[in-house]
Amino acid sequence: MMQSARKTCIYRIIHGGFKYQNVTTLRCLSVKQTKHPTSTTSNVDLVRHLRARIKSNGPLTIAEYMKEVLTNPLSGYYMKRDVFGSQGDFTTSPEISQMFGELVGIWCLNEWMHVDLTKTLQVVELGPGRGTLADDMLRAISRFSDVRDSVSLHLVEVSPALSDIQESKLSGKKLEQIQAEAATRSSDTVSEGGHYKQCLSKYGQPVYWYQSLQDVPHGLSCFIAHEFLDALPIHKFQKTDRGWCEVLISYDDDSSSFKLVLSPGATVASTAFLQVSPSETRDHIEVCPDAGLIVQELCKRILSHQGFALLADYGHSAEKTDTFRAFKNHQLHDVLVDPGTADLTADVDFTYLRNMTEATVSTYGPLTQQEFLHNMGIGVRLQVLLQKADQEAWKDLISGYDMLTNPKKMGERFKFLALMNPRQKDYIPAGFVTPEALKQSQ
Ligand code: SAH
Repeated sequence: MMQSARKTCIYRIIHGGFKYQNVTTLRCLSVKQTKHPTSTTSNVDLVRHLRARIKSNGPLTIAEYMKEVLTNPLSGYYMKRDVFGSQGDFTTSPEISQMFGELVGIWCLNEWMHVDLTKTLQVVELGPGRGTLADDMLRAISRFSDVRDSVSLHLVEVSPALSDIQESKLSGKKLEQIQAEAATRSSDTVSEGGHYKQCLSKYGQPVYWYQSLQDVPHGLSCFIAHEFLDALPIHKFQKTDRGWCEVLISYDDDSSSFKLVLSPGATVASTAFLQVSPSETRDHIEVCPDAGLIVQELCKRILSHQGFALLADYGHSAEKTDTFRAFKNHQLHDVLVDPGTADLTADVDFTYLRNMTEATVSTYGPLTQQEFLHNMGIGVRLQVLLQKADQEAWKDLISGYDMLTNPKKMGERFKFLALMNPRQKDYIPAGFVTPEALKQSQ
């Protein structure tokens, strides 16, 4: 089935619109008390709130700052508006081509088939953005009429504004109608089932929204997190003459700006979360404990109900140092300026995630996006879609394919990690079969 051409206008979105970009700015973490003028043009309330917190309790951790800036209920970056696409601050793979979500849908179907297709399946997506990935997955799964009614969709989303956009996408209803209905409801109402709202998808599956993964019912589930873990709060630690210190955010009254400072010594977070191996060569380390907690919760659920998870993000294997950065209008932006008006992000440390599984589940990857998509058959899917495409859609499909798979674009920086209920010894999930893996299983 050919979807109408994605209007992300990938020709127009400049390179900086993808959050994986190398950081060449913001390298002020030797903490030289760099001054950053805080603009007064927007988000005055958030700036005031952050300043008040710093005044009463001292400098904020980067994690506290990120959490406030991204998801503060009143003025957090994600909470009030659509931040994606050419009109927003960045774009993501599902927004670039329908092929991405369709292939993730087929991955999900294949792993479900290996468990038991007669069991009902919950597709659980963490941080669904505009709902495009979930919509493409459901459409792909729904083509299999025997199983389409055995699926339900569960979305973990903190942003009321984005949840409305997701509902519009998934239900096919007009956004204005959904917003008007939402305005008459109390936003705090949570049902007995733990969800704060629900609808029916265009393809007939029930869809539920939750504030947190803990609220999602237990059951056989396919968990998907695409560009979600990079939005979770990180702690930053710096090696100094006086040992490992934490990088914190303070406020400079003279210049009316936020600034980075170092803790005088160990902090609660450095004691709790920093594990430096004797072979560590880095003098700057980022840790995302929330991502670790989510992975541990996923492991528990995967083990108890034979589930499986696909985590996709830009990331590294414990070799990168300072990746904390901000994006605004598809450009790098200073993390300390105009908080709440730009996206904050940090690369995902896949080694840390794998360690957090404590080998309770089987892990596969991280594999690059180009490998995963090629293994899943993106070439064949492209050929099928091209046969039915008009000239404009043809161009979009080709450039979308290139953007997703080209190693110089999104093909190499984005990685896929699968967490699976341990199965027979040589089982390899779809998309993860590499020549090396094949050799090892022989
Ligand atoms: N997966 C989407 C969007 C990624 S952006 C895509 O690939 O296009 C991050 C998403 O996670 C947004 O929907 C944001 O509102 C949501 N989010 C951020 N922090 C969250 C949190 N702590 N809990 C739940 N959702 C969160």
